[in-house]
Amino acid sequence: MTRIEVGLHETNLLTRFPCSVCGGTTDKEMVLAEFVDDDGDRHQVCVRCLQAPDEIASRLIAQAEAREAWAAWIRGLASQTWVLPTYDQYVKANRDVELRVFGPEPPELRLVAS
Ligand SMILES: [Zn+2]
Repeated sequence: MTRIEVGLHETNLLTRFPCSVCGGTTDKEMVLAEFVDDDGDRHQVCVRCLQAPDEIASRLIAQAEAREAWAAWIRGLASQTWVLPTYDQYVKANRDVELRVFGPEPPELRLVAS
């Protein structure tokens, strides 16, 4: 059995990271609980998982089961017949919304020459 050591690391990136234990997210904090896998990739552990150390294994298993269910759903989608808008329809729909929201002349961003 491999020992996984979670350390505390300061960050300057205030954003939410996925929690590798429960599948949730970290909070926007200055210090992250992280571990490094065999490939050198860093993984974060959210504060809710830190507060429940006895539930780490069950949370990992629950996340694996949820991901397996999601993978099954995706495989099901792959076996369906898909009807998609064309790329041109997509571009036209975006343009129509831009015209409705911003008007006939979308605002331009110009650098003012000094
Ligand atoms: Zn978590």
